[in-house]
Amino acid sequence: MIVLKFGGTSVEDAAAIRRLIAIVRPQLDRQPVIVVSAMGKTTNRLLECAQMAELGNLENAYRRVETIAADHFIALDQLALPEEIAEVRDSLRRRFDGIRDTLGEINQAGRVTPRLSDAISSCGELLSSVIVAAAFRWEGMRGVWVDARPMMQTNDDFTRAAVHFDIAYPKLKSGFTAALTGGGVPVTQGFIGSTSDGVTTTIGRGGSDYSASIIGAAIDAQEIQIWTDVDGIMTTDPRVVLDAAKVKVISFAEASELAYFGAKVLHPSTLLPAMAKDIPVRVCNSRRPEIQGTAIVRKAPPSRALVKAIAFKRGITVVNVTSDRMLMAYGFLARLFEVFDRNETPVDMVATSEVSVSMTLDDPRHLELLIADLESFGDVSVERDQALVCLVGDKLKYTPGIAARIFSSIEDVNVSMISHGASAINVSFIVAGKDVNHAVGSLHREFFTDLDEETFEGTIAAPAGA
Ligand code: ADP
Ligand code: ASP
Ligand code: MG
Repeated sequence: MIVLKFGGTSVEDAAAIRRLIAIVRPQLDRQPVIVVSAMGKTTNRLLECAQMAELGNLENAYRRVETIAADHFIALDQLALPEEIAEVRDSLRRRFDGIRDTLGEINQAGRVTPRLSDAISSCGELLSSVIVAAAFRWEGMRGVWVDARPMMQTNDDFTRAAVHFDIAYPKLKSGFTAALTGGGVPVTQGFIGSTSDGVTTTIGRGGSDYSASIIGAAIDAQEIQIWTDVDGIMTTDPRVVLDAAKVKVISFAEASELAYFGAKVLHPSTLLPAMAKDIPVRVCNSRRPEIQGTAIVRKAPPSRALVKAIAFKRGITVVNVTSDRMLMAYGFLARLFEVFDRNETPVDMVATSEVSVSMTLDDPRHLELLIADLESFGDVSVERDQALVCLVGDKLKYTPGIAARIFSSIEDVNVSMISHGASAINVSFIVAGKDVNHAVGSLHREFFTDLDEETFEGTIAAPAGA
């Protein structure tokens, strides 16, 4: 069994769905399970409708829903068997009616509760998966629509629910084994799950990658394929550095660091389930299926490259607490972090001195409350609009002088909170948000101008100033 996950652009319209089927067809003998995202930007569009309803603009929200519906019906009409079209159209129509009802509820409540948000945002995957399953049947295969929700059990932390693996794994395994019998091609949703009471949840934006990995681990898949809109894991985000190259093979540990520190190509938690079961993951381009993507494996072959890739995350907030009560005191950090726990705010990076602690957050939702609590510890200052930059490579561990090379290549940028943690396969630091593109560009020139062809594939970046 294998799992193939197709992201938003890989199911954005009828042409994309035909490409998806052409990718799956030659792999039918490997018993594929298909996990899909919402079509194109549907999730964002649905959430915009929710906001309109919240602001009292129900008519506009309904109009917007109809444009989303029209896009889905256009795709369906090109992809479903004539004898099925009416029935599948009805099922999509019922889903859109449900969306309208939920928007009405939001309008009444005057606010999008996390639970109502999930009721709306989960619909993108519920719609796209119905169309993709129909498209398999139209192409002569036995497409079977599978509702992920009763199997993917989560807690009720709506919009970022945690999966109950002990319950979900056996349910996913028996559900997909049944759907595969007799040559079925199961098509299911990424991103969504449900509570034990059957209320729909979502597991965090971009979570379809994570769903695919969870399903892969549950069914003991031979491989998990992530089909997206770039050639694989690249040396950095190709939207920022146009000549980023593809990394051919990378270890779970390296790819996890990249995902965690902002490489959007994989949801931060994606690799954990795959890694636990040692299932290789491949990231491929659904527009260029003929090229090999990036293989993510337990141990990457030795490479000459010091840095495999550079990730970055914008919108970081740095919180500094300065207090001379910290000096020689024990238990100070424990009490300090308890404040973050209480305010449900994860910390990404920490730097301490004898009298101060700096911490980065990428979720500033509870910042005001957090600051109020932290003020009992000492002086608190906050820097917003910062960015985290992270270089990853398992050779960073063994390379003397690497820090000098990194920081001299960006000497025109102000850097703070440098971290080279225990795993030592990453070097991370903070720069002002306005400097991040420049810093990443300079670092990319420094480390990827002379590419090791064993490790990378792509254009060789022009030398600086050329
Ligand atoms: P999907 O809808 O298929 O899940 P995403 O938009 O979530 O696709 O992720 C793919 C995007 O991730 C790419 O278009 C690219 O801009 C971005 N990205 C960021 N960092 C990297 C990286 N190191 N390698 C590849 N893509 C990256
Ligand atoms: N559709 C969801 C989102 O846009 C999940 C995903 O695409 O991975 O966040
Ligand atoms: Mg994604």
